Amino acid sequence: MIENRMMKYDLVIAGGGAAGLAAAASFIRETKQDGGVSLCILEKNDALGRKINATGGGRCNLTNEACPGKNITLDFFRGLGIETWHDSEGRYYPYTNKASDVTKALADAVCGADVRCGFTIKVISRVKPDDGSEGYFMITGTGADGKMDMIFADHVLMAMGGKAGPQYGTTGDGYTIARAFGHSVTTVFPILTGVSCGAEGVDFASLKGVRAKGTVILHKDGKPIVRDTGEIQFTEDGISGICVFNLTPHIKADKREKFEDALQRFTITVDLAPDFTEEELAARESAFGILTEQLAAVFDGTDVSTIKNWQLKIDGVKGWRDAQATCGGVALDEINMDTMESRLVPGLYFAGEIIDAQGPCGGFNLQNAWETGIKAAGAIAKGIKKGDE
Ligand SMILES: Cc1cc2nc3c(=O)[nH]c(=O)nc-3n(C[C@H](O)[C@H](O)[C@H](O)COP(=O)(O)OP(=O)(O)OC[C@H]3O[C@@H](n4cnc5c(N)ncnc54)[C@H](O)[C@@H]3O)c2cc1C
Repeated sequence: MIENRMMKYDLVIAGGGAAGLAAAASFIRETKQDGGVSLCILEKNDALGRKINATGGGRCNLTNEACPGKNITLDFFRGLGIETWHDSEGRYYPYTNKASDVTKALADAVCGADVRCGFTIKVISRVKPDDGSEGYFMITGTGADGKMDMIFADHVLMAMGGKAGPQYGTTGDGYTIARAFGHSVTTVFPILTGVSCGAEGVDFASLKGVRAKGTVILHKDGKPIVRDTGEIQFTEDGISGICVFNLTPHIKADKREKFEDALQRFTITVDLAPDFTEEELAARESAFGILTEQLAAVFDGTDVSTIKNWQLKIDGVKGWRDAQATCGGVALDEINMDTMESRLVPGLYFAGEIIDAQGPCGGFNLQNAWETGIKAAGAIAKGIKKGDE
């Protein structure tokens, strides 16, 4: 039995990021008629939504015209007073272009909940009382004061994110908890990040900071598998930029293959002049004028048309700190995707990057977070209402 002095919440949301806050705001909205419904948000950081503030270069690319569920997101944010606009590539941003405004609107919307920032969840377990009464969840962790604490709930929503950007609080804690409940977690690796690479005779350090428009093509075993066009940014040891990020989900090992071995099978070719034909380039004396002086110097003494087919050898993919998303996560076939409830543990729900769902750059990952959070909140609220009837 729970001691009387211990409060049991209807819902505890583990993680106050994009998915957790969208769920909390929706839950509050859906249950506002049902006085007495209780909600607690547990967040490791000292403030809610720290990663949201960093998204979209501080502008928060919150969904994309190509997302089938984009209207769920747009309606949700309109309900919070956040208007949006989209660029020519279909990327939606808040009208003010400020990611922190999105976080503020969400934080304002959840002010009716018990929000406990600085709370690091360590264990979540299901308690089954001997007296045959309904089970409940016990969440154990350390509070802002560093002391162990326990919180109880009828429903738990796991919205603890993945492993990308650990500096924002996401260190994969949710996977350990999901596994302890018997859930499978598919192999996770960092994606939407830069690539370390090299080309013969090129000192990449000298190109650091150079930008160029280009098409990047990823080859596996010599065959092109994915391509993207956009701004390529040169780093001290390779290339970065959205078009490069979008190659990284495809740079992965096959089952039982070591990642280092798999890397040998991938190469990148770069077309640094996608708007020009080879003939047009062959007629030029230099690549300067299409490329900046520093980058053009790399091709001095060669046929200018080689800038359309520049071969790069991949040395590695940047790690979790630089990654914008996680590939892999809690297996989808163990989750009812209509309600986001675990198929293994009644009352346990998942939303956001913790699940094995990932998209390219452009608002797709935040869309997943908002949409699954809103869906879970709706299902939990409905379940509570049914239980009250
Ligand atoms: C720099 C950057 C820029 C990005 N830009 C975009 C963009 O513009 N558009 C886009 O679609 N996607 C973008 N993404 C990806 C997007 O931010 C994530 O996919 C999204 O935030 C995932 O939402 P989430 O709620 O699942 O996880 P998160 O937003 O990461 O939230 C999880 C929360 O859980 C908390 N938590 C974790 N462990 C514990 C614990 N043990 N106890 C308590 N709390 C815990 C974390 O502190 C965190 O606040 C970007 C990512 C990064 C890193």
